Amino acid sequence: MLLECIICRKEKDDLSDEHVIPDALGGYYHIHTVCKKCNSKLGSYVDTKLVNHLFSTFQRYSTGLKGKSGTIPNPFSGTHTLKDDEEQKVRLEKDENGVFVPYLIMGSPDVTKENDKTTITIKIDARDKNKLPSIIKKIAKRNNFNVEDIQIDTDLDKYSHKFRPEVIIKTSVDLDEFKIGLLKIAYEFAVDSIPEYYNDEKAILISKDLENCKITTNDLFIGSGFDKDMFNAFKFILDISSNKHYLILCHTKKLGLICMIYLSNTFSIGVKLSTNEYLNENFIFGINDIENKNFEKLDINQIHERIYSPMKLRYGYLFQTEDECQKFKKIEQSNDFEFYKDTNGNQPLYDKDGNAVYSDINEKLEVLDNVSILDFDSKDLISEVNFEDEELYIKIKPDNILLRVVVVRSEQYYIGSI
Ligand SMILES: [Zn+2]
Repeated sequence: MLLECIICRKEKDDLSDEHVIPDALGGYYHIHTVCKKCNSKLGSYVDTKLVNHLFSTFQRYSTGLKGKSGTIPNPFSGTHTLKDDEEQKVRLEKDENGVFVPYLIMGSPDVTKENDKTTITIKIDARDKNKLPSIIKKIAKRNNFNVEDIQIDTDLDKYSHKFRPEVIIKTSVDLDEFKIGLLKIAYEFAVDSIPEYYNDEKAILISKDLENCKITTNDLFIGSGFDKDMFNAFKFILDISSNKHYLILCHTKKLGLICMIYLSNTFSIGVKLSTNEYLNENFIFGINDIENKNFEKLDINQIHERIYSPMKLRYGYLFQTEDECQKFKKIEQSNDFEFYKDTNGNQPLYDKDGNAVYSDINEKLEVLDNVSILDFDSKDLISEVNFEDEELYIKIKPDNILLRVVVVRSEQYYIGSI
């Protein structure tokens, strides 16, 4: 079957498994709308910008995320120098406890000649002490000496030993090119979540850039790429201190359709995807859980259901007589007590004669605008509404008695971020 690849926009019969978030970064979000050729190009020229970024290697090292080769990257790979002796080259190697320890790389021997005496000085790592005889043999051969003529002066006191020497690491950090990797994530997430977006004018430009592995479209990004603060607005919803990746699609009046990306402890950016409106008030969240190895997509209502307990309604009643009140209290204590609900789980509101006025109480709650939030500082959602404008009753079981309701208090308690 021929289907259009969302990157080259050509009809292809080899659409393949594309990781929206690179798997070396613990991504579990797969789409099957990218052809093989584009998939492999993105892997080589776009995803690598993120995967091999210095900050990613630190993060992968600290979380033990293995790459395609099955190894955890060493963010300190390469040759460095000692602060005390900038001529001295060292490598940083992990010891058995996973601690980085400098390993002294033997440089060229220092040869000085005085009369008929030649002094050769070498510096080796203390751990290479037992290799000394073979090292001496090699030096002797290279300098045409007999090993027997060599006087070895390896007084242990002359071994200098320094605990935790300072190592100078010169490295470079890409501050710009990695952004194409984030642009790819934003574009693929948007096309996968909002099918109409695929034909957006800007989406076409972005896919061209991704196909050519080079950004030419202007004004795409919000923030430097490392600006965690832009996620403060979502702190009740997302836990950016966790080891998760988050993607958010939303529409803002000023910037249009944007995708916000937070890759655990490394990158955070906003991508301006379009000035057209697609989502109305909705948000689409993508949550990539590295520990549980899954990715899920939730809209704002599903997020709400996750972070708050189910809504509990409490009613304030109006009783005509003290007797009625006492009678109700008794029923409320009984085991059979229950609010009447229809077969769909709706809780109707009635007039005093028992005719249903609203098929469900939420219909009434939705039209009221006199909701008062009781505690704005609390993360919990607790509000009250008055039914002053209408005489309404709810039915209670077991005897189908009608009770006049004057106040409804709705309670939803904050459970925690996701
Ligand atoms: Zn393609």
